Amino acid sequence: MHPWNEPLLESLRHRAGRLPHALLIHGAQGVGKRALAERIAQLLLCEARDAARKPCGACEGCRWYAGGNHPDFRRLEPEVLAPPPDAAAAEEEGEAPARRGKPSLEIKIDQVRELADFLNIGSHRGGLRVALVHPAEEMNINAANALLKALEEPPAGAVFLLVSHRPARLLPTIRSRCVALPVAVPPREAALRWLSGQGMPDAERWLAYAGGAPLRALDYAGKAALIERMLRAPAAVEDRDELELLAEALQKSALDRAFAALGAAAKYRTGVPSVPRARGVAWLAYARQLGKDRPLCRHPLNPKLFSAYLIAAMPDEVTS
Ligand SMILES: [Zn+2]
Repeated sequence: MHPWNEPLLESLRHRAGRLPHALLIHGAQGVGKRALAERIAQLLLCEARDAARKPCGACEGCRWYAGGNHPDFRRLEPEVLAPPPDAAAAEEEGEAPARRGKPSLEIKIDQVRELADFLNIGSHRGGLRVALVHPAEEMNINAANALLKALEEPPAGAVFLLVSHRPARLLPTIRSRCVALPVAVPPREAALRWLSGQGMPDAERWLAYAGGAPLRALDYAGKAALIERMLRAPAAVEDRDELELLAEALQKSALDRAFAALGAAAKYRTGVPSVPRARGVAWLAYARQLGKDRPLCRHPLNPKLFSAYLIAAMPDEVTS
């Protein structure tokens, strides 16, 4: 877990006996929500007697958890984040790839059904049972409805940890069943200290580009050359991941242009040339439109066409 989230864990440690049965851990991408959720799961499953020492890292519960096979813990993620173990085994045995296809981006209803089965049998270790759903907004509608049912009639001793950076995309009925645990962007100094500990060059620049989210900054720094090229000379891209990166680069540079034109500081340090004051509004409108288009980048019919469309919609820099 990341040091800036320690106070959040501390606040839960003291309420460990009285925690709600469902927590919605939400906040910007790259602030360490998932690692925090994992730590909370371990805290809940730790069997140490002294609450102040939880999670102790030494008891049987902690050892099971660290080994990735605690019998009272389940993690729900899209296949794309966690390929099912049988897929890897099938690969090794040279099974025909036809029935597998692309790993899913969604959390599916089968996964939630398995979770419900797991929750309906008793606890193996006599304590709580914990389900971590990440990212919760990737549940498709059937999966979300099935999870809602479990949240409405929670089995005794079950705790749900939902992690989301787009809580607005969750069913309102799911949100209302959870106690919200907001995870804020850490103070800039703390973020920079951590990034320098990771040996990251240009930390200030990428932290600004990431809107202050340290893990995001780290990720961007690894793609620095690609992002720089997208900022300087945006061009159509072929693949889905690059499309998301491009839409982001277009949006951030548009916002920086608009901010500068309207007399504010460039927030994302994209280094794009400024535009005349009269063009500020057009760039702001473009940035807002990109905000609406960006979710479509995850499921484009054709990344190349879609990226060309995003670039073509760019306002020009000088004329009004
Ligand atoms: Zn422990």
